[in-house]
Amino acid sequence: MLKDEDRIFTNLYGMHDRSLKGAKARGHWDGTAKFLANGRDWIVEQVKGSGLRGRGGAGFPTGLKWSFMPKESDGRPSYLVVNADESEPGTCKDREIMRHDPHTLIEGCLIASFGMGAHACYIYIRGEYIREKEALQIAIDEAYEDGLVGRNACGSGWDFDIYLVHGAGAYICGEETALLESLEGKKGMPRMKPPFPAGAGLYGCPTTVNNVESIAVVPTILRRGPEWFAGFGRPNNAGTKIFAISGHVNNPCVVEESMSISFEELIDKHCGGIRGGWNNLKAVIPGGSSVPCVRGEKMKDAVMDFDALKEVGSSLGTAAVIVMDNDTDIIKAIWRLSKFYKHESCGQCTPCREGTGWMMRVMDRLVRGEAEVEEIDMLFDVTKQVEGHTICALGDAAAWPIQGLIRNFRDEIEDRIKAQKTGRVSAVAAE
Ligand code: SF4
Repeated sequence: MLKDEDRIFTNLYGMHDRSLKGAKARGHWDGTAKFLANGRDWIVEQVKGSGLRGRGGAGFPTGLKWSFMPKESDGRPSYLVVNADESEPGTCKDREIMRHDPHTLIEGCLIASFGMGAHACYIYIRGEYIREKEALQIAIDEAYEDGLVGRNACGSGWDFDIYLVHGAGAYICGEETALLESLEGKKGMPRMKPPFPAGAGLYGCPTTVNNVESIAVVPTILRRGPEWFAGFGRPNNAGTKIFAISGHVNNPCVVEESMSISFEELIDKHCGGIRGGWNNLKAVIPGGSSVPCVRGEKMKDAVMDFDALKEVGSSLGTAAVIVMDNDTDIIKAIWRLSKFYKHESCGQCTPCREGTGWMMRVMDRLVRGEAEVEEIDMLFDVTKQVEGHTICALGDAAAWPIQGLIRNFRDEIEDRIKAQKTGRVSAVAAE
């Protein structure tokens, strides 16, 4: 279990003073000017050396991403954009950083922007996060007043501005290019890639989009050294990570832990175990609603990191762990996600616009068992036609939960169809 002294986020639960004074007392903003004096290449190398992989879901190496930014400006400015649009069902980790430990993020924004030669950073925060926005804005104002950001930030000679932009509550604006469109004041619709944001992002300028947690851990990595961070987790899965555990555990919680902790340890140590005991575990969605579910018995020994969860047919995603016990109507649970993705599709590509609705309607019938068994394969086939055939990853996000359901709980779907045909009550959907 992660020791308290190894925690990056020392005020995740809001028990301490979140103001600048409190943050400084906990060690934040310590030696920031020195890091900048070491130069941008040093910063990027440190982050590369730490093995940090993006915490927003895709797990792309953060330092490598930063190195794609131009070394010399061709006349266009560079930008850092922080994706604080945390809208994936089950995911609620960045909000704890923003409302309780906001200075970790602001200090990270300065360091990361400097590392990429950006004089401006935009934080795009989810529309529903009203209190989080207030807390973050107060912290930004404090940092300006203290000279930590703004002109000659931290006395480094580097001018740096930070802007907080409030979204309007659309899930798709968490997709990085839709987020950029929205920042520019347009409808939040994903762009075709290439060009990638590092070449032409915000206002057509070189831009890196990073998740809140990815940026907020950077100052501590520099203070303690990349080896310290790389010392947690298995190779290629380094660091500490914030897990958000919800559903049928005794104490749902958000907790910072070492990467590669086992699922069993995570649940027993921090959540008081599974509701009704381990034999009552039915399924787990380990990385936010867009990743496939895994059967409980396969999950118990699973290791919580990028590579290991791939091996059990799922993904770490945002590390939002949704636990479901035997009382769960798993077909209905996945139908609910299908409904969500159908609702959030921006509609600009046909497989997603039509496919999400089609899949949801079939799922709707599967919940009631009003289908033919052959339709299960047909549904699976349609998910494959959506997956990988769309502009952005929302198509995949809509397809994967259904694929996970069919792969893992086909017997239950068939049982329900048969029950509906014979009038047997036991396998009928939960209300
Ligand atoms: Fe829009 Fe869906 Fe296409 Fe993404 S995949 S661009 S959400 S229609």
